[in-house]
Amino acid sequence: MTSTLKGYALPDDKGYFGEYGGSFIPEVLQTIMDDITAAYNDIRKDPEFHRELTYLYKHFVGRPSPIFHARNLSAKLEGAQIYLKREDLNHTGAHKINHCLGEALLAKKMGKKKIIAETGAGQHGVALATAAVLVGLECDIYMGEVDIAKEYPNVVRMKILGANLIPVSRGTRTLKDAVDAAFEAYLEDPVTQLYAIGSVVGPHPFPMMVRDFQQVVGMEAREQFQEMTGKLPDNLVACVGGGSNAMGLFTAFLEDDAVAMYGVEPSGRSLKEGEHAATLTLGKPGVLHGFKSYLLQDGEGMPLPVYSVASGLDYPGVGPQHSLLKDLGRVQYVTADDKETIDAFFILSRTEGIIPALESAHALAFAMKRAKELDPSQSILVNLSGRGDKDIDFVVDTYGKDYGI
Ligand SMILES: *Cc1c(COP(=O)(O)O)cnc(C)c1O
Repeated sequence: MTSTLKGYALPDDKGYFGEYGGSFIPEVLQTIMDDITAAYNDIRKDPEFHRELTYLYKHFVGRPSPIFHARNLSAKLEGAQIYLKREDLNHTGAHKINHCLGEALLAKKMGKKKIIAETGAGQHGVALATAAVLVGLECDIYMGEVDIAKEYPNVVRMKILGANLIPVSRGTRTLKDAVDAAFEAYLEDPVTQLYAIGSVVGPHPFPMMVRDFQQVVGMEAREQFQEMTGKLPDNLVACVGGGSNAMGLFTAFLEDDAVAMYGVEPSGRSLKEGEHAATLTLGKPGVLHGFKSYLLQDGEGMPLPVYSVASGLDYPGVGPQHSLLKDLGRVQYVTADDKETIDAFFILSRTEGIIPALESAHALAFAMKRAKELDPSQSILVNLSGRGDKDIDFVVDTYGKDYGI
């Protein structure tokens, strides 16, 4: 599980990926993060921990997730062959369960009683509530009142799973306010609780730790793809919100110079301020939520409002390792807009019988554009990070008419 990648074997022991990452937090919180880092460094080397996590990946999540050659879609595009890494088939329907199980096991090992987190659309909340039940921890999820009203099915799921859902009524009553509320609650009792961050973001050690838990995606994919085709994929494509599913896929291939990598950000309604969440494409380095990275910010360094049709991509920051990979030119960061994304959502549904999450549909939208520029002998492996069940009501209400529904 430990990354052994030469040159990419990051972060350093202060949590820096080049100039990005680190830990910009109050001193009290730093002590807590140091404890988490020490505990994680221990379990990283503990075969018993890896045995348990591997067991749960296999028998609870259903890993390895398959790779599927999208032959109908590839034939239709008349370009490169598109392959899908099927994280949508995981228990709970997305890649997030991979790191939630890791974080829950870590909390248990550290003797914590409770795991807490914020959630926006409810995806991280559901995955974490699931992991908490399994591992035997209490679970508090902070969620803005506006999001609670919007995301009814996930709210109910968390309640069925026995999680404590705490409505947040301050500010805009959405994700950022939920982060603030959850952090305050955490600071009140950092001894019995662990804050489980939902992507490769936040202060050290979370960007490293969440990446390590997601690495299984790329490690499986590398082996599976070679077994299927005798080669490595020519291109990898993944959507980037905080960046965990993308790091999960990319990490195992970073040293394969012939493998091109694309991270796809949402260009939303337009590239005007407030109408997108294309952090690496349009942002500048800054500090948010305890770490340094590219950031969509105003002149004073305050985060700008962001928007995406996929609520899981709706974040003004991005994982620090992505910022480094961008500067190094190892990964290219590109965009897909709402319209291309909705098109990709219906095209995959109607060519392959797979309804993708709107987040994953961003990756697909870019892959479809890229495929048309390439030769049929070339390949593109797309991380299908989640299934679209959570999005169907919204898509049909908003776009159904345009697609004959
Ligand atoms: C949360 C989510 C994402 C975005 O998070 P990353 O950390 O960027 O991977 C992408 N896809 C799905 C299905 C999600 O639920």
